[in-house]
Amino acid sequence: MKVKFCPKCKSEVVEMVIGGKIGLWECKKCGYRGSIFPEKEIKVKERRKEK
Ligand SMILES: [Zn+2]
Repeated sequence: MKVKFCPKCKSEVVEMVIGGKIGLWECKKCGYRGSIFPEKEIKVKERRKEK
């Protein structure tokens, strides 16, 4: 499983603000916005409870 993370603060708390072709993402931690967010592989087993 892959998750996007913020290239600025490395937070995984990112949210898609515009989907589709453009695909703009925003970091909820530092407010960084961009269409290119790096992805990293995570283990599905390590899914955390965040709610
Ligand atoms: Zn950030």
